Amino acid sequence: MRPVVARISLDALANNLRVARQHAGQAKVLAIIKANAYGHGLTRALRAFSASDGFGVLTVDEAANLRQMGVDKPILLLEGFFQAGELSALVELGLVPVLHSPEQLKLLSHQSFVSPVDVFVKFNSGMNRLGFPLARFEQVMGQVKALANVRSITLMTHFATADEERGAAWQARPFMEKVAGTGLPLSMANSAALLRYPQFNSGWVRPGIMLYGASPFADRSAESLGLKPAMTLQSEIIAVQNLKPGEGLGYGLIWKAVKFAKIGIVACGYGDGYPRHAPSGTPVLVNGKRAPTVGRVSMDMLYVDLTGLPDAGVGSTVTLWGNGLPVEEVAQSAGTISYELLCALAPRVPVAET
Ligand SMILES: *Cc1c(COP(=O)(O)O)cnc(C)c1O
Repeated sequence: MRPVVARISLDALANNLRVARQHAGQAKVLAIIKANAYGHGLTRALRAFSASDGFGVLTVDEAANLRQMGVDKPILLLEGFFQAGELSALVELGLVPVLHSPEQLKLLSHQSFVSPVDVFVKFNSGMNRLGFPLARFEQVMGQVKALANVRSITLMTHFATADEERGAAWQARPFMEKVAGTGLPLSMANSAALLRYPQFNSGWVRPGIMLYGASPFADRSAESLGLKPAMTLQSEIIAVQNLKPGEGLGYGLIWKAVKFAKIGIVACGYGDGYPRHAPSGTPVLVNGKRAPTVGRVSMDMLYVDLTGLPDAGVGSTVTLWGNGLPVEEVAQSAGTISYELLCALAPRVPVAET
């Protein structure tokens, strides 16, 4: 069997939900499990997150899956519905759509439901992605309240820079001013805001990345936040090449040995979800010890410089990210973020639950 495997720890997932809960205070926790639970598997996440107060997904199909698996908690559709044809399923499955556009309000007003639905009404407080303009708050609320199909309303916004120096207060302040006095529940915090701004953790919090054990911050490690990596991507060295000075390696021969070099060929490549853009020098663990990748990542293989690791050879375990090597560090080296690497785990990689 090809040795690549993603080891996914249910204990780590459950631990991370507990950390989120500790920060949430009185707020309820919507575990965000879109994108196949950030690559960890929907069913698996469901089992690990049984203590959550609800779930956030993108599509009616995902939500239908959850209902089929017996979930009776609130399920939030993060982008709401897209077409009129989805409305009946929404009512039947008892889903909670995010309402963010006038088009959605129009669709809702044109159908009569057997029973009204709970909704999150999303306002744009500065990210300029989804949401009604805050400046039109009163008007939009008037329209939503007039909808016979709407039962309860939660007011929602999303932060653009909660993980960065600029923070979240510049968005939260005008939002809080508008919603003050409505008495309606709020939903603001993603992982970064949940960890950094306890004052915004009312109503429903929406942690995603932290549940999978990655830190949303560039300057704070997951470990320091009490988070445990849930996915460890591992493979093995399947061949060793000894290069002479001046010889190149892999496609384009972009890496060249300057002295005699012992190179391990690892059975993992971009076809498994490892980023092709990871440059030479991106860290991996070989039998638990750090070593740098070298050369260009190919579809099924990548290369590691074993010079200085005399015991390493064919059969040595290689950790690409996870326990002992934060996925954030690999992502940073590859010029991306942990989210993208986790989501991109390829279906061909077998998963072992631990
Ligand atoms: C994905 C998503 C989240 C979770 O964000 P993290 O940074 O992963 O915690 C929260 N809210 C919304 C609207 C999202 O789309």
